[in-house]
Amino acid sequence: MAENMTEQQAVKTVSELREKLNKWADEYYTYDSPSVEDSVYDATYQQLVELETKYPQLITQDSPTQKVGDHTLPGFSKVQHEIPMLSLGDVFSTNELAEFVDRLAETDSITFEYNCELKIDGLAISLRYENGRLVQGSTRGNGQIGEDITRNLKTVKSIPQKLTRPINIEVRGECYMPKSSFVSLNEQRQNNGQEPFANPRNAAAGSLRQLNPKVTAHRKLSTFMYNVANIDDLQSNTQSGMLAELKALGFEINPDYFVAHSMAEINDYVDKYTQRRDGLPYGIDGIVIKVNSLQLQRSLGATVKVPRWAIAYKFPPEEAETVVRDIVWTV
Ligand code: NAD
Repeated sequence: MAENMTEQQAVKTVSELREKLNKWADEYYTYDSPSVEDSVYDATYQQLVELETKYPQLITQDSPTQKVGDHTLPGFSKVQHEIPMLSLGDVFSTNELAEFVDRLAETDSITFEYNCELKIDGLAISLRYENGRLVQGSTRGNGQIGEDITRNLKTVKSIPQKLTRPINIEVRGECYMPKSSFVSLNEQRQNNGQEPFANPRNAAAGSLRQLNPKVTAHRKLSTFMYNVANIDDLQSNTQSGMLAELKALGFEINPDYFVAHSMAEINDYVDKYTQRRDGLPYGIDGIVIKVNSLQLQRSLGATVKVPRWAIAYKFPPEEAETVVRDIVWTV
């Protein structure tokens, strides 16, 4: 599309694409009620990326490509994230995944060690502990400012109120709704004449952003934690070590991670979970590949929106739709 366009046409198209993406983001993040499939959003986003790559002078600070998406709801106190909560860059084929890995290898001549993780289809949360006690829980919001949802997160059983060591630490990860809870919640909503949630991700987001924590408590949410705000708070020096350390502190982590030492091993992991995803009790929408060394993560840093040391491989859309259809129709 971008190659046949004049700059004047590009200005118009960029503005149309941004308008669409902003509307969809509002429906998705603010109201937990998307009107289009993620694949439609992703394809439109890629068109915008293509045009902004060809015409970098059209990039503005408020473009969807330059900001983390979520909006905050009124009714919740705001939390300033001292260390921003970022999104992830994404690729849609294993070729693009290999290009990402090759690019990193060229620029930083790094040892080939990547931690492969499942991309949990939920919403990002941050948990702050002081002396080992949970003092605050928040959403990602726009990456800088999130919503204070401490009371709601305290109702989620997998979140420890007290860690096994009395440390100060801010831990990040994903809150999700298991497929079985999603099916029964939507059944209940339909019986009550309420609109069903479009998918488990939106159901989880809607359930966490409730003004009444009792509603959240009934929604049977769960969590997998996979990051800390400041790696200096850790004893481990690798991503995989961090996961083990988080587990020892009392957090639930996803056990299906794997340290890959070659592109072939990364591809095997992607294949394995592309096949297994329908059988998992929670939704995944891709695979996240992360540089395993935390020092290298730190030196690679991040753009305004995404870390340079990680990438998300997104599953093809037809499979994403099958999963949601299966959950709905196997009731
Ligand atoms: P994202 O969901 O594509 O990826 C980033 C997020 O992945 C992180 O913030 C984190 O919350 C999560 N994640 C899950 N498992 C992880 C792991 N193991 N390690 C690290 N992170 C992990 O990005 P986003 O910015 O949250 O949302 C953008 C996406 O949302 C789009 O690509 C689109 O698919 C969807 N979206 C859809 C609509 C719509 O209308 N359908 C609108 C807006 C956005």
